[in-house]
Amino acid sequence: MSEMICITCPMGCHLSIERPSENEIVVSGNRCPRGEKYAREELLSPKRVVTATCRATDALAVEPSPCRPRRVPLRTSAGFPKERVPELLALIYGLELRLPVQRGQVAIADALGTGVDVLVARTM
Ligand code: SF4
Repeated sequence: MSEMICITCPMGCHLSIERPSENEIVVSGNRCPRGEKYAREELLSPKRVVTATCRATDALAVEPSPCRPRRVPLRTSAGFPKERVPELLALIYGLELRLPVQRGQVAIADALGTGVDVLVARTM
């Protein structure tokens, strides 16, 4: 048996997980169905919302200035497969966005074919 805490809502239920067989998962301790869904996803295909920054290119800047932002904050539009996060970070760190950018603007569509977009997190 293993245990985990459901982080889907502030209740933070302590979940107990039993795996009687390879394909069977029995979850207890959850106060609502979302806890079971969370445990199954965490065990079978864990996902994380990823935040990172990429380089900014200011289209209006003639000379680099300390007042101008150099990095653009980004975040995924949904949970991203945990085992592929290093690949995603490599993609993001190689990205350069031209300013100005708008919050919610798609920086990378369908990142690595996962169906998850990488979005700009702040207008700048
Ligand atoms: S099991 Fe339900 S009530 Fe408990 S933390 Fe998860 S979402 Fe909240």
